[in-house]
Amino acid sequence: MRTLTLSLALAATLLTPTTRAQDWLDQMGNAMEQLTAPLQPPRAQPKAQGPVPPKRPSEPTVDVPVVAPVAPPVPRPRPEALDESAAPADEAKPAEETEPLTEAAPATEAAPASEPAPVAAPEQTAAPKETRIYQGACPAVIAGLVQATMLPPISEEGCGERSPLLVTAIQSRGRMVSLSQPVTTNCAMASALPGWLATVDGSAGSMLGSPLAEVVTGTGYLCRARVGGDDALMSEHSFANALDVTGFVLEDGRALNVAADWRDADAPAGRLWRLAHDAACGSFTTVLGPEANAEHADHLHLDLGCHGQSCTAQLCQ
Ligand SMILES: [Zn+2]
Repeated sequence: MRTLTLSLALAATLLTPTTRAQDWLDQMGNAMEQLTAPLQPPRAQPKAQGPVPPKRPSEPTVDVPVVAPVAPPVPRPRPEALDESAAPADEAKPAEETEPLTEAAPATEAAPASEPAPVAAPEQTAAPKETRIYQGACPAVIAGLVQATMLPPISEEGCGERSPLLVTAIQSRGRMVSLSQPVTTNCAMASALPGWLATVDGSAGSMLGSPLAEVVTGTGYLCRARVGGDDALMSEHSFANALDVTGFVLEDGRALNVAADWRDADAPAGRLWRLAHDAACGSFTTVLGPEANAEHADHLHLDLGCHGQSCTAQLCQ
């Protein structure tokens, strides 16, 4: 193009006769300048002009598919809408977080549950062995009115006592009167014995001239039904709530027993036994002697069974 333009300029100058020499030289100088310096700018211009048209048609085609993927951003508003609704969604999320927490809580609970499971097994096996029966202390023993030791709880079918005592001696008038054989009783019976025995002991000294040295004991605790009854009720002996006394031994060595001494009511020994029987009626709820029935011909049966709705009635025979 430039060469063609320069040639046309030279041709025009040569063909014009009226052109002056100076003008011709100027036109030649301008033509030479165009041949030297401006070569690069003109080349750059055609280059830019050439590619631009073809690119634009291709670019729109490319932009179209680009716009098409831009269309997917339409889904973006949807997630935004979800985010707007995500306010409840977030609320639901914390709820879900709390749910896993709660799930985790049972998980941790289940973990310790599963862990102690083996531990619980030995505990359960040991539990029956170590099962404690809460026994009660006996004030009469604490006060020294009765010499006794605690026994393990007694539990038999239809019988038993939670806090049985093995009584070995009873206080009377400032000293301990031993039992011929230790007897198992409850605290109530042990507590009622000292007062009754003190009365008998004092009477023995005044009536027979010798205080008591020993109490001859019969049955204490024994799991059995009542003797001589048709109702098959359990005896108070079945609950360590009764004691049979068969005799006394005086300090001077004399031996007194119900079977031999009861018959003679006027004899000192007979009188002492009757006094012992009647005095027992003030300390126990049931007193049965030889006059009650044949089963009690050789002993005094003493117990603290409940008679009447208020447990204040007494049976003294
Ligand atoms: Zn009895």
